[in-house]
Amino acid sequence: MDSWFIAERSFDFNDDISEVHLPDESITKITLKKHISRRKCKEILLNNADFRIELAMSYWDMGYHLAIFGTSYKFYEYACFFAEENDTNVLHRLHIGEVVTIVTDECETFAIIQSIFSHQYNNQQFAFVSADKFKITNRTVLRCPLFKLQSTNTRQRRIFPISMFRLDITHFVHYCNGNECIDGHNLKNEMYIRNLYFFKNV
Ligand SMILES: [Zn+2]
Repeated sequence: MDSWFIAERSFDFNDDISEVHLPDESITKITLKKHISRRKCKEILLNNADFRIELAMSYWDMGYHLAIFGTSYKFYEYACFFAEENDTNVLHRLHIGEVVTIVTDECETFAIIQSIFSHQYNNQQFAFVSADKFKITNRTVLRCPLFKLQSTNTRQRRIFPISMFRLDITHFVHYCNGNECIDGHNLKNEMYIRNLYFFKNV
């Protein structure tokens, strides 16, 4: 990783894009929609050293083992693409705040999407997602497993190529404690129940 770095530049914004490059041919027709404001984007993802290191790691995941120079980042509310699964092209829609699965060679991990963004490299747009992962606990509620969101774990990697994300077909609900969630969920409480009795139509 020594030869890797991503130069610091300011965030940039533009219109929706559908010309997203991806070396993985099993993922097609990536579209990023509804770009979001500069203020909102700064709140959810800082352009700091961790951001640039994780972006470099994501290029590494896609097979780009060269130094990356940052030019512009554009942030969006949602993304969609087709993934080839069992000889069928399946449409996946990813939206900020939704639960997804991050698929790696080793495992599948549940996570909540924090941001969706494109980065321009070598005159091509690449798409990335930043997400907070869930970690399973040994506790259950009504026979459903209890998970802890890793949003305050600063050592947790958050940025991955969009090709590693799949829409999750199960359902997570906040594990509201007493009266803490009367005026909206208390997100300092990071416990969530994976509801095994609920299935979404996707
Ligand atoms: Zn709650």
